[in-house]
Amino acid sequence: MNNQQTVKIKLLFFWDYDTQWGADRSRSPGGPKDWGHLEFENTERLLDLHAQYKIPACFAVVGAAALPGQRPYHDPTQIRRIHTAGHEVASHSFKHEWLPGLTHLELTETLRASKDALEQCISAPVNTFVPPYNQPFAYPQKIAPAFSERRDGGSAHITLPELCAALDDAGYRFARVSYYSLLSYLLMQLFKYRSRKPSSIEYISNLSCVRLNAPVGFAQPTLAFMEKCVLYEQGVVIVWAHPHSLHLGNSQDERYLIPFFERLNELRHQNKIKVILPSDFLLKEEA
Ligand SMILES: [Zn+2]
Repeated sequence: MNNQQTVKIKLLFFWDYDTQWGADRSRSPGGPKDWGHLEFENTERLLDLHAQYKIPACFAVVGAAALPGQRPYHDPTQIRRIHTAGHEVASHSFKHEWLPGLTHLELTETLRASKDALEQCISAPVNTFVPPYNQPFAYPQKIAPAFSERRDGGSAHITLPELCAALDDAGYRFARVSYYSLLSYLLMQLFKYRSRKPSSIEYISNLSCVRLNAPVGFAQPTLAFMEKCVLYEQGVVIVWAHPHSLHLGNSQDERYLIPFFERLNELRHQNKIKVILPSDFLLKEEA
């Protein structure tokens, strides 16, 4: 049997745990939503499923949810359960703010308040950050455009390198990011074409980052993407979804999650892919 060390393709599994803080700030049509309670209810089921399939995940949690209080805004006990089950708890900002529109002071405050609330809750360091809405996309050095950020955030909107510098200052060490080159952006806008390939670790303002690549959820496009990635020499597949969408019939539904877990475990047993956590990259850097 091959040694696990030879497995070159890694998979990171993220749950964006928005709660009612995120539902109140929904930027999709119709404004605020009321699905916040589902985040907690469905996470109970997810903890069972992850244990059954022995798949570790990173839960990106809004820090305010870790403060004392009631659902649908708070449940520190559940966040501790996520941690003690062996999953990684990451920060998803304090109250699911739209980061491009914040001032630098507000940005620093949400990053620090979230890290502090989560660390006090789980009594362990929180190293990883997942930006709400996957924004900012703006990365001037890579000519990565973000027209909506300029429109809604004004000319002083926070860019991705500015976010990463602020994360570094606040003591974070890893981030999941998203940006597109101008060419990729034009291909998406004009032809709905999107090139997908495994990501590698990159450094933005000295912070270790990995770029989102799989489509949200676990339906056929995500499965096909994973199958394509295991043919590569090396790289990272980043799967992501929201607990609150587990029974809403979209690509994040449990009816797609179970076959995805089963196929992922087949590939794991064939030593074609390895499931890791963001903190595992940091351990490797320290070794
Ligand atoms: Zn979110």
